[in-house]
Amino acid sequence: MTWVPGAAGTGFDIDHLPYGVVVSADGVASCAVRIGDFALDLRRAEEGGLVLAAGSLEAPNLDTFLALGPAHWSAVRARVTELLSDPANRRSVESLLIPLNQVTNRLPWTVADYVDFYSSEHHASNVGQIFRPGQPALLPNWKHLPIGYHGRAGTVVVSETGVIRPQGQRAAGDFGPSRRLDIEAEVGFVVGAGSRLGEPVPWQNFADHVFGVVLVNDWSARDIQAWEYQPLGPFLGKSFATSVSAWITPLAALAGAWTDAPAQDPPVLSYLDDDRRALDLKLSVEWNGHTVSRPPFASMYWTPAQQLAHMTVNGASLRTGDLFASGTVSGPSRAEVGSFLELTWGGSEPVTVGEAKRTYLEDGDTVVLRATCGPIELAPVSGTILPAHE
Ligand code: MN
Repeated sequence: MTWVPGAAGTGFDIDHLPYGVVVSADGVASCAVRIGDFALDLRRAEEGGLVLAAGSLEAPNLDTFLALGPAHWSAVRARVTELLSDPANRRSVESLLIPLNQVTNRLPWTVADYVDFYSSEHHASNVGQIFRPGQPALLPNWKHLPIGYHGRAGTVVVSETGVIRPQGQRAAGDFGPSRRLDIEAEVGFVVGAGSRLGEPVPWQNFADHVFGVVLVNDWSARDIQAWEYQPLGPFLGKSFATSVSAWITPLAALAGAWTDAPAQDPPVLSYLDDDRRALDLKLSVEWNGHTVSRPPFASMYWTPAQQLAHMTVNGASLRTGDLFASGTVSGPSRAEVGSFLELTWGGSEPVTVGEAKRTYLEDGDTVVLRATCGPIELAPVSGTILPAHE
């Protein structure tokens, strides 16, 4: 139980404690943990000796703390839990709690490399049918390795950052603002501890490197993407912006959230032959305040541990701050898809959003991705579409 007013029974109770960076009215950025509708100021907590993390929490973002590794992450989480649950600590800690409505959030860490996967069989099949009608829905490699690409780390933005409609080549000789601007509802994994160049990281070592989880909206301009993507994959149709949650849920908070992942057929190579553990996150996609889909993360064909093993099997090293995202999360039914491409079947079947009909995003539209996992609620990722640059 926590003594923090209003926190008990919410998705941000004592069993969650996600990490972020808040900026107060005086402009100072501080590492923080969220509890209920408050941010616990970890900078002042460490300055005052209430939390010890080798000085890392006095930095203006989580980079140094992430690099410390799992032993420090556990120790800090245990200490923060103690501070926020034992009423004896209330007198010394209460002044470090800042109401969330008095701060703004900043991107909590420096995104190093950003990799995006394509790990939902339902999503890959739907896209195959829409983009390559009459051909096999899955390409021949799809069930043998987790398909992915390197994205643009520098344009990962924190939730509530406005997303300017991209412009670009929509077809041969056709330039202008994207007319098919879409979302991709995904789950992202934040790497804390790096690895050595040349040494693959086996799937068993997932928790030695991965610090936590965010929701990701991989905004996608389908017209730009469809024209540019062959043969090297996504480029400008994706790189204009990728939004992430303002608070990182540590893996430690999700210890009870693992369930069985789908069995794989055909069998995979030994470096990918994992224990089939999936995170049981239940996502929802909210379009202008209306829930239009509920993607189930546990249905992903490739697990986060397999993604990590695959990403490093060639010897590529991990760096503190790396972000790898799952790929669009889509379940088997139309009510469970993670993109509007699928929801409207390539734009051919408009959907009702409140009073309006929609296929793709219009200027002023807001999309919020949410996820729950038992009592825990991941921090949402929200974005509003702004008009294209003049
Ligand atoms: Mn994506």
